[in-house]
Amino acid sequence: LLEDGELDDAGVARLDGRRARHAGEVLRAAAGDTLAVGVVGGRMGRATVLESSPDLLVLRAALDAPPPPPSPVSLLLALPRPKILRKVLQSAASMGVKRIALLGTYRVEKSYFASPLLAPAAIREQLLLGLEQGKDTALPEVALFRHFKPFVEDELDRRFGGAARLVAHPGASPTLDGLPAPAAREVLLAIGPEGGFTPYEAETLAARGFAPFSLGARVLRVDAAVPFAVGQVELWARG
Ligand code: SAM
Repeated sequence: LLEDGELDDAGVARLDGRRARHAGEVLRAAAGDTLAVGVVGGRMGRATVLESSPDLLVLRAALDAPPPPPSPVSLLLALPRPKILRKVLQSAASMGVKRIALLGTYRVEKSYFASPLLAPAAIREQLLLGLEQGKDTALPEVALFRHFKPFVEDELDRRFGGAARLVAHPGASPTLDGLPAPAAREVLLAIGPEGGFTPYEAETLAARGFAPFSLGARVLRVDAAVPFAVGQVELWARG
């Protein structure tokens, strides 16, 4: 992925660092090869490699396609521990999720909020890795809410008023097969923390229209639950 401004007027970009290494060492790109490229927030296309080494990648891009359509799924995610957050941001971005609300719930450790991984630049880096994986350019929006109650009372409807609402809840809930497909185009999917939502939080979400559903008999760790649930909800939402 290229940043806006990295292409000159002739459509040529000179890249170093991670992207040059990735092209040189992982893709083994050589002059004359073609690579998929895109501009963050912009169009996608193909690029011809003019020069490639682990330190420098020079390419000429032709951007002629829009990014793929976004996922209908948005995430309301209890803030996971930082090393899991990294994976979750990448997988959600690679699956085309475009809105992610990270939420402090009762069972989220307060120390997670102090993690350097929550700095906007660190979040962006994980999202870009996910977009590169998914061959997409549209950067997801990530917002952080420290406290459950004010989020639910003041922000939920304002930000996600038009979305259908689901909460993944292990246990007695029906699977998605047991729920009617949504009328709304966006589905807000809530995923709990390591210890799950408290009964109060689960009841509050239910009262706010979140339908509980189960992903099956096995309880999944958050980094498995997120991509699994996003995939299932996406299929369900498409009918
Ligand atoms: N002991 C916790 C509980 O019973 O809620 C386990 C929490 S699990 C590690 C973290 C989150 O992943 C859950 O809050 C839920 O949102 C989601 N999850 C994991 N496995 C699930 C399943 N089988 N069905 C529905 N949601 C699941």
